[in-house]
Amino acid sequence: MRLRLAIALLFLRATAAAPATLAIVNARVWTGDPARPFAEAIATSGDRVLAVGSNAGIRALAAGTVIDGAGATLTPGFIDSHIHLLVFDRNRPYPPIFMRYLTTRRQVADRISAYAAKLPKGAWILGEDWTDALWAVQPPSRAWLDRIAPDHPVWLTRIEGASGIANSAALRAAGFGAQTPGLVGGGNMWRIEAAIIEPFRERDERIVEHAMDLLLRAGVTSAQHNNAWYDFLILRRLHQAGRRRIRVYDSPPLPAWERLRDYIREFGRGDAWMHWGGLKGFTVVTEPDYYRWVSGASSCGLQVMVHLGSEAELRTLLGVFLRVRREQHLADPRFRLEHAHDLPPDVIPLVAEARAIPSWQPALLAHFAARTAAGQLAPRNLFPARAVLDAGVKIAFGTDSSPAYSLVAPVQTLQIAMEHAMSLDQALRAHTLDAAYAEFAENEKGSLQAGKLADFVLFDRDLSRLPVHQIHEAKVRLTVVGGRIMYDSR
Ligand SMILES: [Zn+2]
Repeated sequence: MRLRLAIALLFLRATAAAPATLAIVNARVWTGDPARPFAEAIATSGDRVLAVGSNAGIRALAAGTVIDGAGATLTPGFIDSHIHLLVFDRNRPYPPIFMRYLTTRRQVADRISAYAAKLPKGAWILGEDWTDALWAVQPPSRAWLDRIAPDHPVWLTRIEGASGIANSAALRAAGFGAQTPGLVGGGNMWRIEAAIIEPFRERDERIVEHAMDLLLRAGVTSAQHNNAWYDFLILRRLHQAGRRRIRVYDSPPLPAWERLRDYIREFGRGDAWMHWGGLKGFTVVTEPDYYRWVSGASSCGLQVMVHLGSEAELRTLLGVFLRVRREQHLADPRFRLEHAHDLPPDVIPLVAEARAIPSWQPALLAHFAARTAAGQLAPRNLFPARAVLDAGVKIAFGTDSSPAYSLVAPVQTLQIAMEHAMSLDQALRAHTLDAAYAEFAENEKGSLQAGKLADFVLFDRDLSRLPVHQIHEAKVRLTVVGGRIMYDSR
């Protein structure tokens, strides 16, 4: 019955929808769809997959361009679940003043004065990570900052990033009136940040567009970016301008989760090209902080991902995840464990119980394995793929690349994973469908089925026939995003 319904639906889609605009035939299609793991051909209509099937069936639908796949592998577009498309102001000669360990107003004033003496008038002076303890009684006034740096916009953000202090030059640059108080929080922060990114925006947009081109050449059609709020703004500007070539899921910093909640209330969660709703935590500092942030973010339906270092951090964080999941009765939180390559056997059931997703970057794993072999790291439980998958846990692959500086191609990631005892099928799944799951988008992308987004990659050879050590030699022939050929090596 279900099968008949599926066939009827396929027929309906194939006839009722617009005719196929692009068809690839004679390929070895790995669909990622358990109901039909392999096919010979695929057709698209608009930005969606029209049908996946036999050569004859697809040829019958084809009305537009038909490309001969020459027996090579065709997969869903790769999804990089951990990437940095840009790092705002990586090239800045004067980085933000790090204020966490400053203890007096005098120290703050000295640091700002030193920058003001070196920087041209009008250049932004940024500071971050101040705590309430620094100011003793109350935060400094706008007038106090004006006396130290009258000619430079100054913007100092609090440790959790949900508020900041601005001087008059900063408020002017952001278009605020003379009466605005210097302590700024909520939606007004966006106006200040938009003014900060403006001098660098075009340069950064070019960096992102270049990164997208490099990713398309490698077969990546979706990227899960995490970093600063500035990056979020830059990516949003590109998105709003329609200058998008790959899909993006953005996760700004976790501690200021209220900012994302408020942004979503005003602007929603995005579309198929760019969406948001995740937050990234960095090193686990204290358990109470993490509990506060994770429970706050989860209570308004935001996804939490956290960068992990030590095993102790992993255990602390899983404790927090389990507690929040229990307290809030979260059915499907998809908490994410970034860089959790090291999973001791007793931790794996906790990962399953928390419904967490290990986000792995196999290219980093090779680096850890080499250091372990050289005796620089204690032996650990690196990359226990079999045990993780057997526990019913999904793994999301990524690279931690900054594409403009260095890019790990999906074929390299696949090869490393296969060298660590994963099958081609498992590795492909982690880099496509399960990476889509990790951004709550598995119903839209990550596998090739009628109605899903037409994001796919045609290689120049059949990956399943290659010895493992040659997987990385496969080249991308064609990358299609939303039914459009975005990269063509021919
Ligand atoms: Zn990273």
